[in-house]
Amino acid sequence: MLKPICLLLTGLLAAGNLFAQTEPDKSPVAKDAAKPPTVRDPAKPSTEQSPPPATGQSPAAANTSADPSAKPQVDKNPPPLDPQNMDTSVKPEDDFYLYANGGWIKRNPVPPEFSRWGSFNELAEKNNDALKEIAEKAAAATPKDAKKSKTEKAPSADLQMVGDFYASGMNEAAIEAAKAKPLEEEFKRIDAMKNPKDVLKQVAHMHLMGMRPFFLFTSGQDDKNSTMVIGQAYQGGLGLPDRDYYTKEDEASKKIRDQYVEHVTKMLTLAGDPAAQAAEKAKKIMELETALAKASRIRTELRDPQKNYNKMKQAELQALMPDFSWADYFKEIKLANPGDINVGQPDFFKAAGELFKSAPLDDWKAYLRWHLVRTMAPTLSTDFVNENFRFYEAVLRGTKQIKPRWKRVIAEIDDVLGESIGKLYVAEHFPPEAKARALAMVNNVKEAVSDRIKSLEWMDEPTKQEAMKKLAAFTVKIGYPDKWRDYSQLKIDRESYAKNVMRGNIFESARQLKKIGKPVDRGEWGLSTPTVNAYYNPNMNEIVFPAGIMQPPFFDMKADDAVNYGGMGAVIAHEISHGFDDQGRQFDAAGNLRDWWSPESAKAYTDRSKAIVAQYAAYEPLPGTKINGELTQGENIADIGGLKLAYTAMQKALAKNPQAAQQKIDGLTPDQRFFLGWAQIWRNNQREEDLRLRLNTDPHSPGRFRTLGPVSNMEEFAKAFNIPATSPMLRPPDQRINVW
Ligand SMILES: [Zn+2]
Repeated sequence: MLKPICLLLTGLLAAGNLFAQTEPDKSPVAKDAAKPPTVRDPAKPSTEQSPPPATGQSPAAANTSADPSAKPQVDKNPPPLDPQNMDTSVKPEDDFYLYANGGWIKRNPVPPEFSRWGSFNELAEKNNDALKEIAEKAAAATPKDAKKSKTEKAPSADLQMVGDFYASGMNEAAIEAAKAKPLEEEFKRIDAMKNPKDVLKQVAHMHLMGMRPFFLFTSGQDDKNSTMVIGQAYQGGLGLPDRDYYTKEDEASKKIRDQYVEHVTKMLTLAGDPAAQAAEKAKKIMELETALAKASRIRTELRDPQKNYNKMKQAELQALMPDFSWADYFKEIKLANPGDINVGQPDFFKAAGELFKSAPLDDWKAYLRWHLVRTMAPTLSTDFVNENFRFYEAVLRGTKQIKPRWKRVIAEIDDVLGESIGKLYVAEHFPPEAKARALAMVNNVKEAVSDRIKSLEWMDEPTKQEAMKKLAAFTVKIGYPDKWRDYSQLKIDRESYAKNVMRGNIFESARQLKKIGKPVDRGEWGLSTPTVNAYYNPNMNEIVFPAGIMQPPFFDMKADDAVNYGGMGAVIAHEISHGFDDQGRQFDAAGNLRDWWSPESAKAYTDRSKAIVAQYAAYEPLPGTKINGELTQGENIADIGGLKLAYTAMQKALAKNPQAAQQKIDGLTPDQRFFLGWAQIWRNNQREEDLRLRLNTDPHSPGRFRTLGPVSNMEEFAKAFNIPATSPMLRPPDQRINVW
């Protein structure tokens, strides 16, 4: 299945191995994530955010640094709830988000190298520093010349790979001197194409290199037989963040299209084409991608797992594309027994087949050349890196300045060698006590969910029994994998950064394709260990929390339970709630797409989820641009359910500790600290371009509304802060939603 795994937030540093191709695209820097599960995208996109008071202009979006020399400032050891981060001149009943975060928002403009800046980024920066230290040490420990080092003790394989990768990435002189040389062989292959069969071969070859021209083919669990992995064919092949960018007729979209064509032209020029020829090619590339975009499903349609499940025989897939030989394609990607294939969007493949037949050879040459350059640009010389940054970061997200080289290299290492550098990371940065305390929190949250299901007023008994079965079957992964990935077949050396990245991508795509036709490996992780993120995977029915997020402000060993339950507890409950959101509820205890709902309970659920869609669709983060209630539905359900369930779980924890239940800290009750703990994980400032891009593509609501949406439905929040019934922070009792 290629529906996105439910992440806590879209994109951030190093959210490597998840999700879907229509995500916003490649930033040269952040491994912002979003892809079908277990698919690795060389292009990386987006993240979290916050915006404005109820209506009008965002104080957040406005707060962006103009000083290009400003460095992100991260307090190394903040208190669990820092009163300085609040703005007590704002009353909670007037604007709870600003009351909780106003001090922080004023003090923390978006640093020039970011498109938004929030608690996730602060923590990711801290992890980055730790990874830098590890990589530098590894680079120093690895002998520069293996021949000279016979007498030295051989470094561990992880140290060697991380050290050599880092050294190759930091060797600016070699990278500059090489220019586009690492791509020469590939350029030759493309230039030598003579007929459609060669185009097919080159597409397959680039797919093996981890690139995604034309369409996406990878592996994934069979939605209706979740124990097995099958081939997955999915729409793709675009260079802009979403199919809508190609089709919308508003002025802003048209302008971005012009800027994209200009960017493609520049990149092709850098790759050696004369300017006039490059401009001509760019136009053809735009036409070809527009044809693919028009045949692509929109984002909200991609959220429907039934609609995107179309398992078929190879012959049926072949019938969709008579002129594209799938037998040849499978031969080229070395897939001897493709078996049945899930074709996510049959109409897309039908249109792609027609395009394959009709588009001239020269257009394919231009298109494939572009996708090669685009994917590899961040690993080439500065002219490529900067032009790539200019379009994908500066134009699309408003980022002012590129991240320093070391951060970009660390992000690439995390992407290619996540479980190698992750192993070195947890050895130093993940205390076993953290895992034990987190597990206790998970158990309290699960108990809260169990109580809630049993007492649900709108669900009938048979459906409740199925829901309880599903809850009991949840797998929990915390910290790092039991069994680390084996990278012994991957060669990493100090010769060429680009070649290291290429070999890493080839290794990963082969690893994915090898799974086809085999039973699923339940031990595998979809995020690297140092990642500041979490996810629910419906096919595995599992919740996963990497070591990277198990730190303040999400989780703090020195914090009181109230703050931890408002942070990590709510994150845990959010992920569990995904198992019961509008997508997750369609999967059963075994991870199969199977309807286990009675028609009455399903209707009662849908009535509630529709009301959530309407609640969020009324929020207007940018003047004239509202939240897409359908696109963000699953995340909003998980936020609302998650906060409520975490609150119940906190009460369970406090019941065991009556003294703490009464104790005020900094004058704040445990209930108040719980809601402030929730608000503080969503604090952020954001550039307007980034906010706009996310409103188009991100399934998560902006941080401000992730804070305010759930609390507006909770009586417990009203009580904690004595919020009057007339407050805009609160919905009238008859409009509050109670799903989970
Ligand atoms: Zn989520």
